Amino acid sequence: MKRILIVEDSIDLAGGLRRNLEVEGHRATISGTAADAIETALRDAPDLIVLDLGLPDRDGYFVLEQLRARGCHSPVLILSARGLEADKVKGFRLGADDYVTKPFGVVELMARIGAHLRRAASESEPLTNGVLGDDALRQRYALTDRQIEVARLLAQGLSNAEIADTLGLSTFTARNHTEAVLLKLGASTRARVGAILRGQA
Ligand code: CA
Repeated sequence: MKRILIVEDSIDLAGGLRRNLEVEGHRATISGTAADAIETALRDAPDLIVLDLGLPDRDGYFVLEQLRARGCHSPVLILSARGLEADKVKGFRLGADDYVTKPFGVVELMARIGAHLRRAASESEPLTNGVLGDDALRQRYALTDRQIEVARLLAQGLSNAEIADTLGLSTFTARNHTEAVLLKLGASTRARVGAILRGQA
């Protein structure tokens, strides 16, 4: 479940968006003014902000500028009736991640939101400290401590020679460890190891 802030003064549009997001299993809150949006975003650090440009107090650009200046790095998708290239460029310059023009197709909008949420999730998850912790790798795949070290280096794309170097082993020993790791993880290629460690396999 992701937390999404909808900044939109049209109650119908905001409510429709919230229902769609809830169907996808997310939790959405609505801000109808720039002032409320800034306060809410800085307090909650939502996983994504859908930002209308035409708000009753200040415009969406002001909201975006304030958020970026005050350390809020949540992905921002601008949703606006202003479809000119200059409007979009201004939005991107201020730190928006995407720009969708009204009227929009709900299916496309939901797909774009999903893509931003997935990207944000994978970026906030360092490779060397993935979803699967050492305990999970020991219990689920019966890896030894040394094999866990090797698996994490494989996930970073290191070769056998580089792994040997990093761990102070001979290349022969490193290759044996690599083969054991691939076998235990059921990984057909070295590239699969990263996905398995990130819980994406
Ligand atoms: Ca509006």
